[in-house]
Amino acid sequence: MNPRLPETPRIKVDLMFEGVRWTSALGDAMRFAAPNFYPYRFGAEEHDPTGTGKSAMPYLLTLSDGTLIRLKGNPSSPWRVEGPDARGGYSLWHDDCQDPLRRDVSFDPRPTWAERVTTDGTPMGSVGVDFHGEMLVVNVAPACQYFLAKPSSGKGNLKCTFCGYGRPDDRMTALGQAIDAPRLADFTYQRLREALRVARDEGRMRHVYLVGGSMTDWREEGERFLDLARVVREEVGDSAYVALGSGALPTDQLERFHAEGLVDGVCFNLEVWGRELFGSVCPGKARYVGWERWLESLYAAARMWGPDHAFTAMVGGVELEPEHGGWSVEAAIENAIEGARALLSRGVTPVWSIYWPLWGADHPERLAELRRYFEELSLAYAELRSELGVRVNPDFLSHRSAYMQLECDMDRARP
Ligand code: SF4
Repeated sequence: MNPRLPETPRIKVDLMFEGVRWTSALGDAMRFAAPNFYPYRFGAEEHDPTGTGKSAMPYLLTLSDGTLIRLKGNPSSPWRVEGPDARGGYSLWHDDCQDPLRRDVSFDPRPTWAERVTTDGTPMGSVGVDFHGEMLVVNVAPACQYFLAKPSSGKGNLKCTFCGYGRPDDRMTALGQAIDAPRLADFTYQRLREALRVARDEGRMRHVYLVGGSMTDWREEGERFLDLARVVREEVGDSAYVALGSGALPTDQLERFHAEGLVDGVCFNLEVWGRELFGSVCPGKARYVGWERWLESLYAAARMWGPDHAFTAMVGGVELEPEHGGWSVEAAIENAIEGARALLSRGVTPVWSIYWPLWGADHPERLAELRRYFEELSLAYAELRSELGVRVNPDFLSHRSAYMQLECDMDRARP
């Protein structure tokens, strides 16, 4: 563990990379916890109570101060969760310690709507909305046209190279999305309204993050998000901070979002800093929007909504991949911090998530470099925010919703 990180971010990074090994607590928690996308796969030496080789496990762990952490299963992890104890609580243990590192940890619960259906009989768990801690992610049009767009060579496609979640598939039809049409099926908006009402009544929703796959025509994408943002605002009112997580949009469309009061901020994801890297990692964004227009759109949003309300998510470490130049950790951090300084000077706050490579388990030495990058970048970026007197606006993203990012935890640890 990196001793220079404050304690909570240190635990969080270690858990994100090492995962947890199986204890009965993980199975017990599935009575109420939101399920992980990936099952726990038992190691050869582990007792497998299911007899199937795998088991459902919780997705997100919550420390007693609310810090949210993404979990993965790993039979050789030094981490484990024990419980429930006599009071029904869980505790977090590390093999190097005699006592629990944290008591009263828990797991992010399944939303109450998991058991409910919309008036047309659709399970609410499948209408394209989901909680991450206190953030409601609305993703009713996930399919991305960049997966279908061809590069000039005619081979492959123009999706962002790290992305696996925007692939057009059966979800698209079930959710009422036609890949070329900004407008979604009428039932999509109706089901969304009903899910939002249940989410609002549940009481934990502090942020709404409105996301979706990209369209090759950024203006059409803007029309799709205008429709969606109107539904969200009508149902949510001002009970939550609504962030527009589309791709970058033309300024005149942003003015419509702003004039109608549809969103409280924007998050247009640059993913990486630098024109060349952007073209390499995000070829669809580079072709159909372009580096300059993406930046201009972010800067225009920062002028309209104010400097604490324009964000961009970044994918930390993808530039270490040979296909993107195989940057050294030091050079990649220097570039990222240069980008952070430039963006912050224009009122845009970048937020880094860790890049999760598919080869992770096969190349532990490269994973160690990736981890070193993420830890050192988090420290350097926290220092920059401190120098500039900036904090990530907790209305947009809080430690109770940032399950893969460290900025909120680093800001909280700052004196
Ligand atoms: S824009 Fe990029 S990250 Fe977003 S869904 Fe499309 S390919 Fe994935």
